[in-house]
Amino acid sequence: MKIVSIVGARPEFVQIAVLSRRIRERHEEILIHTGQHYDRAMSDRFFVDLAIPEPEINLGIATLGASDQTADMLRALSAAIARCEPDLVVVRGDTTSTLAGALAAKQLLVPLVHIESGMRSYDRTMPEELNRVVTDHIADVHLLTGEDARVRLAAEGIVEHVHVCGDVMYDIFLRATARAPSPSTEPYDLLTLHRAENTDDAVRLRAIVAGFADAPRRVVFPCHPRTATRLREFAIALPLAIDVVEPVGYLEMVALESAARTILTDSGGVQREAYFAGVPCLTLRETTEWTNTVDAGWNRLLGARTDAIRAALANPPHRPPTRPPLFGDGDAASAIVAALESDTMQAIVAEAARTRRTRRRGSP
Ligand code: UDP
Repeated sequence: MKIVSIVGARPEFVQIAVLSRRIRERHEEILIHTGQHYDRAMSDRFFVDLAIPEPEINLGIATLGASDQTADMLRALSAAIARCEPDLVVVRGDTTSTLAGALAAKQLLVPLVHIESGMRSYDRTMPEELNRVVTDHIADVHLLTGEDARVRLAAEGIVEHVHVCGDVMYDIFLRATARAPSPSTEPYDLLTLHRAENTDDAVRLRAIVAGFADAPRRVVFPCHPRTATRLREFAIALPLAIDVVEPVGYLEMVALESAARTILTDSGGVQREAYFAGVPCLTLRETTEWTNTVDAGWNRLLGARTDAIRAALANPPHRPPTRPPLFGDGDAASAIVAALESDTMQAIVAEAARTRRTRRRGSP
């Protein structure tokens, strides 16, 4: 099959790492990079570190703002997908690139596969929630990280072509821990922060930062470019305990996560990686899509409450005795490729090709 895979942002580069190689063993993959994250720290380094194939097409769209970005990506992706004439398009997660890729594929009548489908925060003020809800409702095939996502999709009437495959982020995490550099021995907590709901709201951002004022351990903070810009704009000074660094590469991140005492984050990927690493997570949001990690006792929602952050740093959470396998067996990539090769997928691909041919013949 000819498969177009769309990526654009950091979590998508991590997710594609193992999968791309597996897809290319048996299929032709055309990797399209939208350019959403484009600089060395947020993009290039991941391709090198994780040996991700060079994208066949790089759209170089660096527009800012969700609407403009979606519009520019949609236009460019439509043209690129039309040129490639793929059998199907694969998008993952919940970024602007995911949404634009999904719309472009379906407008061209190309079957759409959504990886990491069925995740919800039930907070539609989050751009990511809009992206994933719309994508799920137009996708032909849904590939899920766990059974909990199947229940959520069913509640929205999506019950067909739903496969639980596990999480490709777990696949890559397991491979990366073997290669990750050894971290320092001094105890530290790890912080990441980049969600618009935290970074674009001066009150929330200030409240979160204030929670670290008397941090009892060093806090390593690989700072996302958007967060760095907002901290400057809002003139928020970081407390001394926060050791702010540039965004780190994936292998370094895995090493930092694995040896941290506690991970504080608003990232979806980092919440899961905390679980993979067996490190307690404190989530700086009011909601999470990864409620399974909360139910398992490994994750707690602190929101942007200064006192709650301060108290949790002073009394860090203990590791629960068990860590059930919520994200598959570390070989989600094989399950995903099997789903792409299934008889139902072949039938969807054949039917869509017929529809495209008929429409083309029928058009004036
Ligand atoms: N990550 C990284 N370096 C950093 C911060 C994050 O490699 O400095 C990785 C992290 O380990 C995870 C992915 O980026 O694999 C998560 O991306 P991000 O937090 O940007 O997005 P989200 O998961 O919230 O969509």
